[in-house]
Amino acid sequence: MTLFIAIYVSVLGLVLGSFFNVVALRVPVGKSIINPPSCCGHCGTRLRTVDLIPVISYLLSRGKCRYCGDSLSFLYPAGEILTGLLYLWIVLRFGVTPEGMIGLLLVSLTVIVSLSDLKYMRIPNKVLLFFAPLLLLGILLFPTQPRWEHVLGGLLGGGIILLFALRGGMGMGDVKLFAICGFVLGVPELILAFLIACFLGTVIGGGMMLIGRVSRKQPIPFGPWLMIGTLISFGYGSEIIQGYLSLIL
Ligand SMILES: [Zn+2]
Repeated sequence: MTLFIAIYVSVLGLVLGSFFNVVALRVPVGKSIINPPSCCGHCGTRLRTVDLIPVISYLLSRGKCRYCGDSLSFLYPAGEILTGLLYLWIVLRFGVTPEGMIGLLLVSLTVIVSLSDLKYMRIPNKVLLFFAPLLLLGILLFPTQPRWEHVLGGLLGGGIILLFALRGGMGMGDVKLFAICGFVLGVPELILAFLIACFLGTVIGGGMMLIGRVSRKQPIPFGPWLMIGTLISFGYGSEIIQGYLSLIL
């Protein structure tokens, strides 16, 4: 891995992360991602190129709109930095390979879905419909295990979440999302991803209830946990599963 590729991919992640913010904030509420051009959500002033440099603009303006002084959401730079770091991680882990490309798609889906789910408690169909065919095609052309294991992963992923959705704990967006993730991961990596998601959701979600950040009745978005579980399992699933099996066998 050359330093050049690492820097290039990180910067690409920062720039795309900025775009993913727009997608995550506009698509769930039915707005176009091109029109109107980016403007301040408070005063409506159209933002210029200098206001749209990922992270740097936010830091230079100390997190405030340069025109009206209104605070900007921390989600913007967070989404950008997260995308940059995750892009870098994928390329360091997989290099410039088909699996790396699938990883970049998975990371992009993660950022958009997480921002959208955190802000609106929604996982937009349009976003899933954009990523699903690309991921499907990627896995069919470059499967990481026998293709039937990917198909089984997709069915199981959707099926597990559907059981929760029918009882009212999760939405249909989560069902479709995890069916896609399951197809990419295959079995048994999908099971690991689900266990990680449940663990994180319980520990962090429960922790937030304990310190009173969210009430017990308030639904917690589960999409981000599903995606974090999926990314960990995608990156290190076989190592974790082998390590676990060698402990108990
Ligand atoms: Zn403003």
